[in-house]
Amino acid sequence: MSMSSRPLAVITGATSGIGNVFAHRLAASGHDVLLVARDAARLDTVCAELGTAHGIQAEALVADLSDDADIARVADRLRHESRLATLVSNAGFGTRGTIETADPAGQSRMLRLHVQATHELVHAVLPGMLARRSGTIIVVASVASWSPTAGNVNYNATKVYQRMYCEALAHELVDTGVYVQALCPGFTYTEFHDRLGSGRKGIPGWAWLPAERVVDESLAQAKGRGAVVCVPGKRFKLIVFLLKYAPWMLGSLRQRYRRDRLNVTPQ
Ligand code: NAP
Repeated sequence: MSMSSRPLAVITGATSGIGNVFAHRLAASGHDVLLVARDAARLDTVCAELGTAHGIQAEALVADLSDDADIARVADRLRHESRLATLVSNAGFGTRGTIETADPAGQSRMLRLHVQATHELVHAVLPGMLARRSGTIIVVASVASWSPTAGNVNYNATKVYQRMYCEALAHELVDTGVYVQALCPGFTYTEFHDRLGSGRKGIPGWAWLPAERVVDESLAQAKGRGAVVCVPGKRFKLIVFLLKYAPWMLGSLRQRYRRDRLNVTPQ
């Protein structure tokens, strides 16, 4: 990668879903990409695809970002990337069950991935971006950051952390040339709900957005140095408005999602 003069984009969770689309879009716009995830074989496949399709350099960095040593290793790598133009901190997952019943180890992994890794990677890239007076940081949070739901406690809480981290950081970045965005998608077609083991039952078809739509809105807002918070899709902008000011109007949708997360059979 060192011989290239192209800007570099780092994307965590690039083997599937939203992160994978970010990797494709940023490669298509002339970035070399450094892709982080746990599945080495899938990462290699994505890198090969991107290199062939776009004539850029794509490198795989295998890491489990819920592991402290791996977070530190990735952060150290990013600290020394002088071409780093864009960081997309996207890797994440959901769980089912209540705080009482959910596997405590899984909850701890979520806290490290969504909270610790997000902070350490942003902290690693900021000094270089500030020195160069340019850079884009996108943290993938969620509409769930406005929707407290039983069976979703740490997911809700960590997504609030990510959104608020970006909203507060933006105040520190005024006039620095560095832009930060909290991308807050609603239900998006990815592997997320398959990995969760819930499929997509209970959530109406109209509520789903394609990952391409989510990423394209995010990148357009980032290019225009728009608002910090990005909620893709008009229907989710309305849903966020209602969640903030009239959550009772979404009662039935939220009940269905709650049943699913609690692993209770819908009646
Ligand atoms: P996805 O298709 O399941 O992709 C998740 C990605 O994260 C995969 O590339 C996975 O790769 C990686 N990953 C998971 N755990 C990791 C770990 N410990 N270390 C490193 N990489 C890890 O899900 P997605 O929907 O695209 O999710 C991306 C982000 O969007 C998440 O932060 C999620 O919370 C957020 N989001 C999703 C939705 C939705 O409805 N899909 C809605 C709102 C927000 P490996 O398995 O290879 O590690």
